[in-house]
Amino acid sequence: MAEFTLDLNDDQKQVRDWLHGFAADVMRPAAAEWDEREETPWPIIQEAAKLGIYSLDFYAQQFFDPTGLGIPMAMEELFWGDAGIALSIVGTGLAAVGVLANGTEEQIGTWIPQMYGDVNDVKVAAFCSSEPDAGSDVASMRTRAVYDEAKDEWVLNGTKTWATNGGIANVHVVVACVDAELGSKGHASFIVPPNTPGLSQGQKFQKHGIRASHTAEVVLEDVRIPGSCLLGGKDKLDERLARAREKAKAGGGERVKNAAMATFEASRPAVGAMAVGTARAAYEVALDYAKTREQFGRPIIDNQGIAFQLADMRTQIDAARLLVWRASWMATTGKPFTAAEGSMSKLFASEVAKKVTAQAIQILGGNGFTREYPVERMHRDAAIYTIFEGTSEIQRLVIARTLSGMQIR
Ligand SMILES: Cc1cc2nc3c(=O)[nH]c(=O)nc-3n(C[C@H](O)[C@H](O)[C@H](O)COP(=O)(O)OP(=O)(O)OC[C@H]3O[C@@H](n4cnc5c(N)ncnc54)[C@H](O)[C@@H]3O)c2cc1C
Repeated sequence: MAEFTLDLNDDQKQVRDWLHGFAADVMRPAAAEWDEREETPWPIIQEAAKLGIYSLDFYAQQFFDPTGLGIPMAMEELFWGDAGIALSIVGTGLAAVGVLANGTEEQIGTWIPQMYGDVNDVKVAAFCSSEPDAGSDVASMRTRAVYDEAKDEWVLNGTKTWATNGGIANVHVVVACVDAELGSKGHASFIVPPNTPGLSQGQKFQKHGIRASHTAEVVLEDVRIPGSCLLGGKDKLDERLARAREKAKAGGGERVKNAAMATFEASRPAVGAMAVGTARAAYEVALDYAKTREQFGRPIIDNQGIAFQLADMRTQIDAARLLVWRASWMATTGKPFTAAEGSMSKLFASEVAKKVTAQAIQILGGNGFTREYPVERMHRDAAIYTIFEGTSEIQRLVIARTLSGMQIR
């Protein structure tokens, strides 16, 4: 088991510096343009693919870093570059993780390469869970998957919403309900292969921030997929459903629920790291500006009112990073999340990002309020972190339930 240390090793430093170079030289100069265009930045994804940053290999290497710091470090650097472009680059990873977590070796080997495509023909993937009536309340999902035994096919019907890369993805991973009576324990994940009839893009959302990342509804109308597209396979699903039915009869179900919670605790620090990246970016712009902008014959940082804000900003960013690193280390080394430390890190870092980016606008004065400077974009981008992967309210609910052992509502 890796001992916890805050010293990055040489390999980690090398990866961090390499990503920072890409973020500074390729992402940052393109950020304003793709934010205005509100389109997926395909040329930048392709550039990332050429360098090996957009690839399963790269994420697998970071994921299996025994210190747990590989993923948070990578996320922080990419989102420091630009949040919208970074989400376009890492969004496929969300779908890939869905397959890695639940798929068989054969499914992993078949579908993940198709999610990324190749350097000359890059592809993206989408993970589709949220629905118009099932956001925080995942259990009220309506999308149904029905098994057609005669043809060994699953038939999917429903509408997914808020899907990152939804409709433009080569491969969609869709969560659907196979047994409505079991709530979230009756859900299963499916691969919808490229060009499957019946899957279409609904509304593409015009967003407040992360506008270079495509977000859309995905409509599923009698989408027929082979039986082999059920992640994990039919036998495993049948066993799991039988266990859940037994537990439901006996009034239990804790074990299944705890397994799902552990997965969230492990994935949420990655979103916290994205928030740290955006917050750090805005803080650095504000610090530089405060040192060079003069009013009343001296740099504005000469005023405690400005300098103390910068001190608070940096303190909160460092505290957020420490929570994120702790939770990632806990996930990698198998420590139990007895205080929902993963949710804690995401809650704190996301709220810090919103606050710090707003302070950065204030420090830049009128310039901060314009699109000539990047902090207004960073502030718009930061708003997503308290919403996706569980809102701040849901994080507080999870933390409070974990601490108290009570079903607080
Ligand atoms: C840009 C973007 C990208 C996304 N990408 C994806 C994706 O790729 N795949 C995917 O499946 N989903 C994705 N999502 C969906 C995202 O995870 C949901 O938006 C999020 O879970 C919240 O659901 P909701 O929007 O329906 O809000 P709601 O659940 O309707 O919540 C509305 C408000 O009520 C509060 N609330 C709800 N329940 C409670 C409660 N019990 N106690 C206290 N407060 C409560 C919430 O915190 C929130 O403030 C994305 C969303 C966005 C905006």
